Amino acid sequence: MKIPQSFVPEKNLEIMRKIKTEMFRLVVTESCNAKCKYCLAANTPKNGSNQTIEAVEKAAKKAKENGAREASISGGEPTLDKNLLKKIKVVGKYFDKINLQTNGTLLENPEDYKLAGVTTVIINLPSYDKETYEKLVGIKVYDKVINNIIRATLAGLNVRLNSVLVKGYTDDFAHIVRMIEFSKKLGLREITFTQMVPANDFAAKHRVGLENVRQLFQRSEQNENQKFHSIDVFQFLDMTIGLSSCPFELNGQAFETGWSKEYVLTEDSRLITDYFNQERSTMEVF
Ligand code: SF4
Repeated sequence: MKIPQSFVPEKNLEIMRKIKTEMFRLVVTESCNAKCKYCLAANTPKNGSNQTIEAVEKAAKKAKENGAREASISGGEPTLDKNLLKKIKVVGKYFDKINLQTNGTLLENPEDYKLAGVTTVIINLPSYDKETYEKLVGIKVYDKVINNIIRATLAGLNVRLNSVLVKGYTDDFAHIVRMIEFSKKLGLREITFTQMVPANDFAAKHRVGLENVRQLFQRSEQNENQKFHSIDVFQFLDMTIGLSSCPFELNGQAFETGWSKEYVLTEDSRLITDYFNQERSTMEVF
């Protein structure tokens, strides 16, 4: 993948390198039970995962030996995998910090994930508003997800919302501020706003650059609570706000970047280094 340097001011790159941690990312499955308008996983069958526990153990060990310091477990929807808790325990042999990225629909027993070794649950919640949420996610699970967020906080997990910015749905300043206030009411301390990868026509048409969001916050500078700490993370209304972008290439054009070095175990058990970099390569571990 080629990312023109014009998209990556050298100064910003330096800041990003400092604040990002090398990460072992376990992509448990490409399947998902939700139907988000902006995601390719939306139309996959709910197959669980073909990835073996042995593959996970070998990849976690290799990633750790190569410098990864934290682990992140994602999908598709990782909780569709009936072996997920076993995989988390195996990852926990090598990593103290484990993030689980989920849509929250199947998180009825968050204490099981905590016991297995998960430290932070990152839950996909594009909107605080039930109607907007269900329009975007494509299934009627809002109440269930909110209950599971509360359950996860009560189980003592660190919970962070991940809220995607969708033009015409969730990108206006009032919506963003209400998302932050809503997170606070749920007892959370962090929220991340992310931009969409243009995985399909809807996402390409409704994609919002993070630059727009930074500008929105800059326009609210009269608010004394707002302090920018870096290009990616700042405080607002006593919450930690992250802006997360994802580098990618579409039709030969490269987009904004914000990568960390990653060792990614894919569902078909390939361990890929520098997933988001042009020198991306597959490591031999099996
Ligand atoms: S919950 Fe996540 S993986 Fe599933 S369809 Fe939505 S964005 Fe895609």
